[in-house]
Amino acid sequence: MTAQEIRQKYLDFFKAKQHVVIPRALLVPQNDPTTLFTGSGMQPLIPYLLGEKHPAGTRLVDSQTCLRAQDIEEVGDNRHTTFFEMLGNWSLGDYFEAEQLPWFFEFLTDVVGLDPKKLYVTTFIGSEQHGIPRDTEAAGIWKDLFSKKGVEAKEAEIGSETDGYKRGVKTGERIFYYNADKNWWWRGDKIDDMPPGEPGGPTSEVFYEFDFVKHNPEYGEHCHPNCDCGRFVEIGNSVFMVYVRTEAGFEQLPKRNVDFGGGLERIAMAAIDSPDVFKISLLWPIAEKLEEISGKKYDAHTSAMRVIVDHLRGATFLAVDGVVPSNKEQGYVMRRLVRRAIRFAFELGVEQNFLEQVVPVIASLYQDDFPEAAASRDKVIEVLTREEKVFRQTLRKGLQEFEKIVLTSSLGDGDHFRNDLERRLSGQMIFKLYDTYGFPVELSKEEAFKRDIAIASDADVQFEKCMHEQRQRSQTAAKGVFKGGLGGQTLQHKKYHTATHLMYQALRQTLGDHVIQHGSNITEERLRFDFSHPDKMTPEQIKQVEDIVNAQIDNDLKVSYAEYPTNQAREELGALGAFGDRYGDKVKVYKMIADSADKPFSFEICGGPHVDHTAQLKEDGKRFKILKEESSSAGIRRIKAVLA
Ligand code: ATP
Ligand code: MG
Repeated sequence: MTAQEIRQKYLDFFKAKQHVVIPRALLVPQNDPTTLFTGSGMQPLIPYLLGEKHPAGTRLVDSQTCLRAQDIEEVGDNRHTTFFEMLGNWSLGDYFEAEQLPWFFEFLTDVVGLDPKKLYVTTFIGSEQHGIPRDTEAAGIWKDLFSKKGVEAKEAEIGSETDGYKRGVKTGERIFYYNADKNWWWRGDKIDDMPPGEPGGPTSEVFYEFDFVKHNPEYGEHCHPNCDCGRFVEIGNSVFMVYVRTEAGFEQLPKRNVDFGGGLERIAMAAIDSPDVFKISLLWPIAEKLEEISGKKYDAHTSAMRVIVDHLRGATFLAVDGVVPSNKEQGYVMRRLVRRAIRFAFELGVEQNFLEQVVPVIASLYQDDFPEAAASRDKVIEVLTREEKVFRQTLRKGLQEFEKIVLTSSLGDGDHFRNDLERRLSGQMIFKLYDTYGFPVELSKEEAFKRDIAIASDADVQFEKCMHEQRQRSQTAAKGVFKGGLGGQTLQHKKYHTATHLMYQALRQTLGDHVIQHGSNITEERLRFDFSHPDKMTPEQIKQVEDIVNAQIDNDLKVSYAEYPTNQAREELGALGAFGDRYGDKVKVYKMIADSADKPFSFEICGGPHVDHTAQLKEDGKRFKILKEESSSAGIRRIKAVLA
């Protein structure tokens, strides 16, 4: 049975059980700024699970398109994709365990035709600490269901995941009790952290066993359903929302909900008994196209092909839902998917444009079942092929930078070569090319090889070190997405820092020397700047400031800094500072100066970080633009500006 048929049969199955088929939510959640993507079927339904009335009634079913950017590193294994569909059915205070488990079992065994002997289930072991009993009801239902199919189903006590690796599975066991880390759901993470008033409940998961996959002891000594080796694959998860936490402990809710989510792709792989999800009908045609384009075999290049197939499918669906590649939020994830796919294609020797051949294959897989995919087909192909062109330009730029960085070795970190023999491609250089210009690591190495430049023996270690630091910085930045602040250190932050200095100076030139900085806030998306000025700026003044900034970006000012005693910086040298800022004895002063000039355009006290050259601000054809000029408080104006 194909994945498409499974989707349809699932919807029909629950329709016959009085469920209303509801449309999928878009991949970009509407009215929810706390998360970038719809990552489960439940997510758009949370208000209804918490008690709001759903207009379609108390029994719902759908297939929800999901994107989990957090699974990007898992792609390449046998069962994770960033984009997938989650089949879902819900009872809003209607039916409960005694209906849910038999229905799902019936669907899997009688409709899809899975062998019940390959199904294993888990259920909640209970929590003494919280006074919640084990879910013996679920275990009893499962026992009964298996027994009707003539399949032995002994119960087994596991507890934690670690216990599972120690204990493994014994003959005849099929129903496994796990603790709250595995079989308890609430909106947060640990059961202990649930606040009073918060609903939650036990879950029961179903796993399919690919019995010819041998357990890999790298994951743990023994295999068990929640082991990550790939032998057992989770295909569905029923949540029984029946408890609410109170000050006194856990109490039963008057209205009990069921929330079920099962991966369509996972069920489809079980249906063809393939331990590789990429062999299913919604993915394999894409891989075949790649085989044709590259002339390489999937079996010989499995990881790279999986990444390309997955990423292009995800990016395609993002385009269907109106996302365009950019440097922020959803657009950034989409850009990352497309570019990563193109880079992995290099490994297959595909160096020419190929998205125009692959994207139509993907669109065709979905256009019959998702009318919006059919309707937006041309636009989607255009959006993706355009991004491919932009990226190839970036790559060309990267090559030029390679020349500059490696041949003139102007890394600026004391990494100077005294002569040709010392010339080495270092991990820091590889990282800089990768981070700043998006230039792939393998390409840096290849280019070095072509030019007979040795690669430093610790290049990989150093590169990893830089990556690690970068990840920590961007995690900090991601946490600050909604907080703003000066915490971030990504390239995007640096660009906005630099743009802020240029704009500060441009404001003073345009409005006068009374302009003093009163505050600044930078995110990856924009800069915000408060300054003293009594009047609203006129459109002409705004335009003039923009023009000055863009001219200085074009002039490609060199950005550098030096430390000075504070008095000297302020009084003698006239460095700009911010109103109310307290400085120590010494300050860092950033200077932005044109090659030909004898006086810097900007000379400002600041902790940084900044880009090295102002022309970096116009990468990808970006220009500086003031979006908003408004009053912040008496005598203080506020500007929001972007590089777009
Ligand atoms: P896993 O442990 O396999 O990552 P999960 O615990 O993250 O799964 P849930 O959040 O319970 O999964 O999602 C419900 C269902 O969605 C899972 O049972 C699985 O079938 C499917 N699913 C989850 N993540 C993915 C993914 N990255 N690709 C494909 N299917 C997925
Ligand atoms: Mg997961």
